[in-house]
Amino acid sequence: MSTPGAIAVLNAGSSSIKFALYEATPEETLLFRGQIESIGLAPHLKVADAAGAVVGERRWPDGKLDHREATNEILKVGRELLAGRPVLAFGHRVVHGGVGFTGPVRIDRAVMDELAKLVPLAPLHQPHNLAPIEAIAAASAIPQVACFDTAFHRSQPALAQAFGLPRDITAAGVRRYGFHGLSYDFIVSRLRQLDPALARQRLVIAHLGNGASACAVHEGLSVASTMGFTAVDGLMMGTRTGALDPGVLLWLLDERGYDSKAIEDLLYRKSGLLGVSGLSSDMRTLRQSAEPAAREAIALFVYRIVREVGSLAAALGGLEGLVFTAGIGENDAATRAEVGAGCSWLGVTVDPSRNAAGRGVISSDASRVKVLVLPTDEERMIARYTGRTLGI
Ligand code: ADP
Repeated sequence: MSTPGAIAVLNAGSSSIKFALYEATPEETLLFRGQIESIGLAPHLKVADAAGAVVGERRWPDGKLDHREATNEILKVGRELLAGRPVLAFGHRVVHGGVGFTGPVRIDRAVMDELAKLVPLAPLHQPHNLAPIEAIAAASAIPQVACFDTAFHRSQPALAQAFGLPRDITAAGVRRYGFHGLSYDFIVSRLRQLDPALARQRLVIAHLGNGASACAVHEGLSVASTMGFTAVDGLMMGTRTGALDPGVLLWLLDERGYDSKAIEDLLYRKSGLLGVSGLSSDMRTLRQSAEPAAREAIALFVYRIVREVGSLAAALGGLEGLVFTAGIGENDAATRAEVGAGCSWLGVTVDPSRNAAGRGVISSDASRVKVLVLPTDEERMIARYTGRTLGI
C-alpha cells in the first residue's frame, strides 16, 4: 500500500502561526506539529514530531519575517518533513464565519471574498487568518478548507444571540457570535466517545487558556456562550477584561481622553490577569507569586468563572456535566478546585485526589454533576473537518 497523503492545518494568529501535519486517514494520525512565534519581533520556528521530540528549529534574530514569509517558511519546512508524501489539503482556523458559515467550507474565490467582508467584525484576527489562505491559493491548486470559531454557536436560540439594541444595529451584524467553537466541538466529540450518555445532557465546557470562555451545550449543540460580538466578552482572561460595563468606555472617552486604539489596547492587552496582578498574564507565574495582587487576580478570574457557570446553567435549566479544558483548565488543579467549590450549590463536588491526577473524571462519586478534565485539540478538529469536507 502506498503512503497516505497528509492534511496540513494552519492556525494563524496576530504574532504566531501554529501548524500541524496529519496523515489523511480516518485516525488522523499526527505526524508533526509546530509554530512560528513572535512574528515581527524575533521570529522563532519550532517543530516537533508526534512524540513531542523537537525535529527542527530556526530563529530570525533581525525580526525580518512577515506573515506571508512565515507561511512560506512553514510550507518549505512541511515539504522537507513530509519527504515526498503529498499534501492533499490545507485546513485553516478562521475566527469569524459571520451568520452565514454554519460549518466548515471549501475555499474558492467567492468564499474568500465573503471572508474578507467579515474583517471589520474581527479586525485583530481575521486578516491574519486570511493571509495564509491567499498565499497558498496564489502558489498552488491544493484544496483549502476554512473551519470557523463561530460556526459551532450558530445552533444557539435567537434570544441567546441577541443584544438589547435597536433593530437596524442588530441587522448590521451586531449580535453575539461566540468563539472557541472548534475547541467545544472537539470536546463534545471526545465526550461522545468517552461517555455518550453525558454527551447528550446539559453541559458547561470551560475553555480556560490565555483566551477564556465557557459554553452551555445540550444534545451536543451550543445553547449559549460567554463570548459575544467579539472575543473580549465574558470571562476575565490573560490580558482581556471579559465583560465590562459599557459605561466604563464612555467614562474613558469623556474623562480620560481615550481614543478607540487606546480602548482596544486596554480591553485586549493590558487587562485581565495581567492588569489586575500588575505582574503577569501567565497563571503559572501568578500561582507562584506571594503578591496580594496576584492572589486577587486569580480570585477574580475564578469568581467570574463561577458567576458565568451559574448563568450558563440557567440558560440550560440545569446541569449534568462540567468540563475543564485548555492551558489552565487542563493543568491548574487549584483553579479547578476553586471553581468546583464555587459551583457546589449546583451539585458539583470535585474529588481532591482525582483532581490532582488531572485527567478524565475528577468529581466524587456522590457529585450530582460529573466534572471532567479533557485536553482540547483544535488542530485535530480542523484536520477532521478538512478531510470530511473534501471527502478525503
Ligand atoms: P492559548 O489561549 O494561548 O492557546 P493556552 O491554552 O496555552 O493558551 O493556555 C495558557 C495558560 O495556561 C497560561 O495562563 C498558562 O500559565 C496556563 N498553564 C499552562 N500550563 C500550566 C500549568 N502546568 N499550571 C498552571 N497553568 C498552566
